[in-house]
Amino acid sequence: MVIILLGAPGAGKGTQAKRIMQEYRIPQISTGDILRAEVEAQSDLGKLVKSIMEQGQLVSDDIMIQIIEKRIQQPDCRKGFILDGFPRTIPQAQALEELIQKRDSGRLKVIEISVPDEEIIKRISNRRVCRVCGKDYNRLFHPPPPDNRCEVCGGDVIQRSDDTEETVRKRLAEYRNKTAALVDYYEKKNRLYRVNGLQSIDQVFRDIQTILERNGP
Ligand code: ADP
Ligand code: ADP
Ligand code: ZN
Repeated sequence: MVIILLGAPGAGKGTQAKRIMQEYRIPQISTGDILRAEVEAQSDLGKLVKSIMEQGQLVSDDIMIQIIEKRIQQPDCRKGFILDGFPRTIPQAQALEELIQKRDSGRLKVIEISVPDEEIIKRISNRRVCRVCGKDYNRLFHPPPPDNRCEVCGGDVIQRSDDTEETVRKRLAEYRNKTAALVDYYEKKNRLYRVNGLQSIDQVFRDIQTILERNGP
């Protein structure tokens, strides 16, 4: 099964993708995590995308499609995968369709997690993350340890450089201008399911499970 999580920055895509991965044993593919790892490693790709990401803009479709094409060919993706942060534009969605056509396009489910803008700004400006293992913290819901050492791996817990209020507003604008159209796109293809992202993390996950365990498109 191929699962796409759609939603504004901070809607809870990463949080839910990790829960789905644990429960259904299929990998989470977060394009944001892949890009951040490239930036951290100072690779050619990392150097290319660093300032784009810091400005809250989208990386080009060509680059993103290449990354996904390569990633979903890995053996761990054979039984399916969860896309968190991809596709973000119509051309990305069309490219994905071609890539999965030969395999399980019939088992594609797209889940939109919807959350109002004020809540998004609040969540993201309080988000903190371990720079080593990626564990998520949030100053409002589950604060990082006082010494800012990750409780899982001891790494530094930091704020993402694009998680400032100013950049979040730009990312939200990118979402409305380029990504929100995917909701319509998948609705027309009868693939779209919606969940209310204002609920607790557990309740959002239960709603997602109901969708995944339902038969049909
Ligand atoms: P969030 O889910 O919090 O919005 P991500 O971690 O998914 O953030 O993405 C961080 C940044 O990485 C985006 O603002 C964008 O610059 C870049 N990015 C990630 N995925 C894509 C994509 N599919 N297309 C274009 N840019 C992307
Ligand atoms: P995304 O991947 O869509 O950008 P995240 O999963 O990283 O979003 O969530 C953004 C922030 O909001 C994180 O700090 C996370 O802990 C918090 N969060 C996620 N889901 C919920 C929820 N249902 N209720 C409250 N906070 C949440
Ligand atoms: Zn850690």
